[in-house]
Amino acid sequence: MRVKLAGFNVDCEILNRLNHSAPVTLTPETLSAAYARISRSPLPIDQLRKHACQDVEKSRKSNQKIIFAMGHHSVAEHAVFNFDIMGVSRLALEEVERFRLVSYTEKSQRYVTLAGDYVMPGEIKDPALKKLFQTIIQRQNQFYLKAFSAICEQLQRRRGPLKTSVTEQKLMEGIAKEDARYILSLATQGQVGITINARNLEHLFRRFNRSPRQEVRKLSEKLYALVMPIAPSIILFPEPSAFDRDASAALEKHLHALPAAAPLKASPEPEIVAYTEHGDELVLASFLSNSSNLSFSNALTIMRKTSFAKKRAMVNDFFSKIQFFDAPPREFEMADITFQAQISAASFAQLKRHRLATLIAGDYRPELGNTLPESISATGLEKEFHEIIDRTNTAYSKIKAKHGLAADYVLTNSHRRTVLMKMNLREIYHFIRFRDDEHAQWDIRRLAHQLAEKIKTIMPLSAMMLCGKSSFDQEYKKHYRILAAKKI
Ligand SMILES: Cc1cc2nc3c(=O)[nH]c(=O)nc-3n(C[C@H](O)[C@H](O)[C@H](O)COP(=O)(O)OP(=O)(O)OC[C@H]3O[C@@H](n4cnc5c(N)ncnc54)[C@H](O)[C@@H]3O)c2cc1C
Repeated sequence: MRVKLAGFNVDCEILNRLNHSAPVTLTPETLSAAYARISRSPLPIDQLRKHACQDVEKSRKSNQKIIFAMGHHSVAEHAVFNFDIMGVSRLALEEVERFRLVSYTEKSQRYVTLAGDYVMPGEIKDPALKKLFQTIIQRQNQFYLKAFSAICEQLQRRRGPLKTSVTEQKLMEGIAKEDARYILSLATQGQVGITINARNLEHLFRRFNRSPRQEVRKLSEKLYALVMPIAPSIILFPEPSAFDRDASAALEKHLHALPAAAPLKASPEPEIVAYTEHGDELVLASFLSNSSNLSFSNALTIMRKTSFAKKRAMVNDFFSKIQFFDAPPREFEMADITFQAQISAASFAQLKRHRLATLIAGDYRPELGNTLPESISATGLEKEFHEIIDRTNTAYSKIKAKHGLAADYVLTNSHRRTVLMKMNLREIYHFIRFRDDEHAQWDIRRLAHQLAEKIKTIMPLSAMMLCGKSSFDQEYKKHYRILAAKKI
C-alpha cells in the first residue's frame, strides 16, 4: 500500500509569498486534471500529478475537454477554494448558505457590532425611499442597543446582588444580544468563511447570476473575478440556462390562474405534512433485507406481520448502547419526514445550516406576524418593539411598491416566512440532538422540540431516542430505567 498527501488548502498569503520567491502557476486545476486521468491511464496517481504540474496549459486543455466535451463534471470537485466573504447582508448570506455540499462558518449575531454595519440595497434609487430605509434601520438599531441594556440589567437583577464573574457577564450579554437582535434588519452585515469545490462554485455562479438581487449578482462577479485567473479551466457553465431562468415563471403563470384557496394563516406549530408510512417497518426491513439476503419487499412483508411488541424488543436492543453522540446508521434514511412551519428569520438562519435536507423557503411576509422574544416582553419593551415593527412594515410596503424585492432588506430577524422541509430520520436525529438542547437558541429549540414530539407519534420505535443532548440521559432512563452513564 502507498498513500501520499496530494495537497491541502493553504492560506493565500503563504501561497503568494512562495510564488514571489519562485514564480509558478499555482492552481488546483492540476489535481482535477491528474485525477481525471486515473480512470484510463496505467500510470500511478503521483506520476499523473507530476505530469499535470509540469504542463499546466496542457492540464487546462484536458480539463476543458473532459468536463465540457465528455460531461465528466465531478473532476471539478477535486479543486477546492476558500473565500472570506465580508460586509454582506444577512439576506445575501441566506443565498450563500443555500448550497448543500459547501462548508460555512458565519459570524454569530451574538457578537454583532452596529457601527453603520448594514447594506444599502442598490435597487433603492428613490431618494425619499432611501431616506425612509435609513431612518427605519437607525430606529431598529437604537432599539437593539436599548433592548440589549434592558435585558442585561434584568438578567443581573434576577441573579441577585452577588458579584458576577467575567464568564457570567459574557453569558448574560450573549443572551441579551441573542434576543435584542430580533429587531435587527436583514440588511445587517455579516461575514462568512466558505470552503467550496469548483463544481459547486459553478452551480453558485449559475444561481447567483440569475438572482433578482443586485447584491447577490455583485457577489457572484467578485467571486468569479477572483477564481478565473487561478482556475480558468474548471468553471465552464457559469451562466444560467434558459430552463434555470424561466421554468419557475412559466409554472407560476398557471399557478396564479388556479382558483384561490384561503392563504396560509400565522401558525405557532410546525405541521407534519407528509411522511413515509410504516417508517418503523421500513427501517427494520432494510436491516432484515441486508442481513438475511431477502428481497426488500419480502423483508417488509415479514416486518409488517411481526407484532409491535417484538419490533419494540428489537429496537430496544438496537438502541441499548447508544450514547448522545452516536448517530443511527443509514437504514434510518429510509424514512422521510416533511414538515411545514412558519419561522422567524433568526430561526431560519440556523435551520438552513442543516444541509442534508430539502429546504424550500417562501418569502418573508409581514402578515405572518413576528416572533417576539420573551425577554423583550419581560423588560416592558414589547409595545415599543411592535411600534417599530409597524413602522418597518409600512416602510416595507412603500419600498416594495416601487422597488420590489429590495424591500425585504428592511424586515427584521423577527419577521416570519414559511418553510417546507424534508429530512430523513437519520438527519432528524442529528438535527434534534443539536437543536432540542439546552445549548440551542430558544427559537429553533422550540421548533425542534415540537417536531420531535410529533415524529415520535408517527414512528414510535425508530424515533424513540429522539431528544436533545441535554435530555439524553433522562430519555434513556425512560426507556431502559437506568441512566445512560451507568450502562458503560
Ligand atoms: C449551539 C450552536 C452554536 C452554533 N454557532 C455557530 C456559529 O457561531 N457560527 C456558525 O457558522 N455556525 C454555528 N452553528 C452551526 C453549526 O456549526 C452547524 O453548521 C449546524 O449545526 C449544522 O450542523 P452540521 O454542520 O453538523 O451538519 P448538517 O448540515 O446538519 O449535516 C449533518 C451531518 O452530515 C455531515 N456533513 C454534512 N455536510 C458535510 C460536509 N460538507 N463535510 C463533512 N461532513 C458533512 C456531518 O456529519 C454533519 O454533522 C452552531 C450550532 C449550534 C448547535
